[in-house]
Amino acid sequence: MDKVLNFKQGRVPLLISMPHAGTRLTPAVAAGLVPQARSLPDTDWHIPRLYQFAEELGASTLAAEYSRFVIDLNRPSDDKPLYVGATTGLYPATLFDGEPLFVEGQAPSKEERQQYLEQVWGPYHRTLQEELARLKAEFGYALLFDAHSIRSLIPHLFEGKLPDFNLGTFNGASCDPQLAGRLESICAAHGDYTHVLNGRFKGGHITRHYGNPAEHIHAVQLELAQSAYMEEFEPFRYREDLAAPTQVVLKALLQGLLAWGQEHYR
Ligand SMILES: [Zn+2]
Repeated sequence: MDKVLNFKQGRVPLLISMPHAGTRLTPAVAAGLVPQARSLPDTDWHIPRLYQFAEELGASTLAAEYSRFVIDLNRPSDDKPLYVGATTGLYPATLFDGEPLFVEGQAPSKEERQQYLEQVWGPYHRTLQEELARLKAEFGYALLFDAHSIRSLIPHLFEGKLPDFNLGTFNGASCDPQLAGRLESICAAHGDYTHVLNGRFKGGHITRHYGNPAEHIHAVQLELAQSAYMEEFEPFRYREDLAAPTQVVLKALLQGLLAWGQEHYR
């Protein structure tokens, strides 16, 4: 398979992971999708563009190239369900609205999926692990920010409209509670936006698996409502006018993470 990820190493103890930003499909997935899936509606759209400023902060970035319709990088390789109730798996079978993702009988074969696991999932997680180990060796600690976005209204997955900023720390297990508190207060200081900590989205596999405060690896997931920076429906246009003020908050959150690390580990 061609280029499966986009990694840039930075100079501060922060890695931003973007596991659902990818839009590439394999021929087998492209051939099997139902018509309403071909526009890739469940993508975390424009996330690398939205976080472009992170390079100036010195953060390392890791972004997926392949779509979650090929393989979901934020699910464990054994495909244990992340949430009680409706959710999607390692190899999604449905769209977020609950409709089938593939034409009947047209999903990729077991062999093809094994290849996606080895050649897409594997390299992403090896890079994540190696970069966190490098940061820890160099700084004594590592901060991981798992960056996501989702349509703000999905009746099949959650009731009502999602808050703008959905922070997840796996109910407090993936990072120091003081750090989570600081991020919450940064959100609260930007009163034009709503936020929640460990609401519907508590952090996926990446947050849960890599976050280990006892080992000085602090992981936070942000599920951002797409209404905060883009058109939520086709053609999923990026809205500079919406994105610019949202980036102010995102930047404050990342700076808050770094400041906390410097204070806590000085
Ligand atoms: Zn996502």
